[in-house]
Amino acid sequence: MLVTLDDVIAELEVDLSSSAPPEIQKALGLARVLQRRGVELQTPEEKRQQRELERMMGSETDKITLTQMTDQAFRANAPRRAAEQLTHILDVQGVPRFFSTFDRTLLKGFQSFGNYLPGVAMPMVREKMREETANVILPAEREVLKKHLEERRQGGVRMNVNYLGEALLGEKDAQRRLESYLAALQLPEIEVISVKATTIYSQITPISRRHAVKVLCDRLELLYRAAARERYTRADGTEVPKFVYLDMEEYRDLGVTLEAFMRTLDRPGLESARAGLALQAYIPDSYEAQLELNAWARERVKKGGAPVTVRLVKGANMEMERVEASISGWEQAPYKDKIDTDANYKRMLHEALRPENIEAVNLGVASHNLFEVAYALVLVHERGLLEHVQFEMLEGMANHQRRALSEVAPNILLYAPATRQEEFINAIGYLIRRLDENSGPDNFLRHAFKLEVDSEEWRQLERMFLESFERLKELPRGGRRTQNRNAELPEEPPGDPIALEDFVNEPDTDFSLEHNLRWAEGIVEAHETRCDEKAAAIGLAIAGELIPLEEAGDRRIAECIDPSRPGTVVGRYPKASSEDIERALTCAKDDPTGWRKMESGKRGKILARVAQTLRRRRADLMGAAMADGGKLLTESDP
Ligand SMILES: Cc1cc2nc3c(=O)[nH]c(=O)nc-3n(C[C@H](O)[C@H](O)[C@H](O)COP(=O)(O)OP(=O)(O)OC[C@H]3O[C@@H](n4cnc5c(N)ncnc54)[C@H](O)[C@@H]3O)c2cc1C
Repeated sequence: MLVTLDDVIAELEVDLSSSAPPEIQKALGLARVLQRRGVELQTPEEKRQQRELERMMGSETDKITLTQMTDQAFRANAPRRAAEQLTHILDVQGVPRFFSTFDRTLLKGFQSFGNYLPGVAMPMVREKMREETANVILPAEREVLKKHLEERRQGGVRMNVNYLGEALLGEKDAQRRLESYLAALQLPEIEVISVKATTIYSQITPISRRHAVKVLCDRLELLYRAAARERYTRADGTEVPKFVYLDMEEYRDLGVTLEAFMRTLDRPGLESARAGLALQAYIPDSYEAQLELNAWARERVKKGGAPVTVRLVKGANMEMERVEASISGWEQAPYKDKIDTDANYKRMLHEALRPENIEAVNLGVASHNLFEVAYALVLVHERGLLEHVQFEMLEGMANHQRRALSEVAPNILLYAPATRQEEFINAIGYLIRRLDENSGPDNFLRHAFKLEVDSEEWRQLERMFLESFERLKELPRGGRRTQNRNAELPEEPPGDPIALEDFVNEPDTDFSLEHNLRWAEGIVEAHETRCDEKAAAIGLAIAGELIPLEEAGDRRIAECIDPSRPGTVVGRYPKASSEDIERALTCAKDDPTGWRKMESGKRGKILARVAQTLRRRRADLMGAAMADGGKLLTESDP
């Protein structure tokens, strides 16, 4: 058993001649203490899991197979379909080598016979997977969950329950989820719940941000009021109101989640509500978000309101961010190098611990990296801020670390994802994220299980921790996504035409950026009133000659009607006469500009100018598609 935090910290050696500040030296020492103690506390079962994990890390294909198996085993409801899919994966990839001999034999049996009795074999496979992951994902069935929560409570660990669920397809589902959160808040065994904004409203998209904020505020208000009404009795007998935490998901959710959080808590009657949200250090913009939140919370507390809480995390949706960025032609929103994430984590930690902030925004230090945890613990201890800071870890991820930490840190909150047997499909995304964390090359957890103090791996992790302080000195401000649709584009295209193999698509508009959202709103505003008498006057272009509407002569005038506003005229244009058509065809045949014989380089230059004009007129074209074709802006872009 470790002694008290005071004693542990007092015993840490500090070399006053070293260039490293004392608090960093102490953090290095404390990380060693925690690591050594964690190893002592590791159970045989944890050691078995560690060996499996190590074997998996040794083989890239095993990780792929495990990902596919986890993904597919629970996708299809029909046992035959699921069994076929699983045997197909095993046939193609082979039985993963990292499983124990017993499990490999089971899987081989399944591969040979699973398809004969899928109705029996599949439930067995699913049950086995559920069992294997039960330490990471708790069963949400009330009695089982209650028992687990009570055990943790007795052990002095506070629990934060997250009923797993990923983005929803419809509003019925959202309603069901909201009701399940409200019901959870009524359970005496639950103190804290974590909620994802995308699970209480199904239609959150960056372009509908204003509307989404309104809907989210209404729904969050229900949760916050329910939490404020209910009471939880902690192990020491103190009664506290319940607490709702908002998880952070993708970059595009940052703005909407933060705004909905603050606007809801601004509502009358919620001044003393306790609530929190997560901010991800791998997103550079999170630092700006933190500054905004701090300023707002300081005002709230000054007016007599309750402090809120920020859970500081590094970020767990890297793969999704990469996919989105590459599909849309954007910069990846998170940093590309871990050292930047680590530096931003420290920048945000320092900001959070400033005396003027910590009173208004309590802090949850959420990390499994013992260097980060130790550093935060040293700072918090030295500044006497322990009552404002809690340390947060994930249930089942390196539990031995958490047990070591809880011997010295008084306030630990354990994040416990839970799901019911029939909804286990919801666990897949979570499991894959955890698998990524366990296997990311620079990640602490990849090494955590077999880590020995002073080993080469330990020194490498220590170096990374120290280097991030150097990086912090030059870490720039501002996000990585800087596209600005309001920027005036030059008339000339950028550079010479490029070869086909170098072609890249024009990036979509990034509506998660506030200035681009305003740009989009400007398009709607401009076209809303551009109708009836003010409808667009569209000319005819025949053989290079532009014939304006007012010079249409005796040509018939046609009207464009907005499909979303029946009867509203949004444009008028002359219809081409037979002579016009004849003239156009003759022009095409005669080819007066020599287009048909033009060499490709020259054509390329002309087309590049056309592309540049399309770029410059993007807003007009999108507006026209909306007014004349009834297209949503998100249908014309992309
Ligand atoms: C209690 C708790 C709650 C959490 N809640 C959330 C949440 O709401 N939302 C969420 O997104 N995550 C959440 N996480 C997960 C968290 O974001 C981290 O993924 C996880 O904790 C691993 O980070 P670490 O500090 O423990 O370890 P470390 O090993 O120090 O850091 C690993 C992290 O570094 C970052 N990283 C790795 N490689 C790179 C790279 N090449 N470029 C840039 N960055 C890189 C990634 O964020 C990766 O997860 C939570 C974690 C905990 C413990």
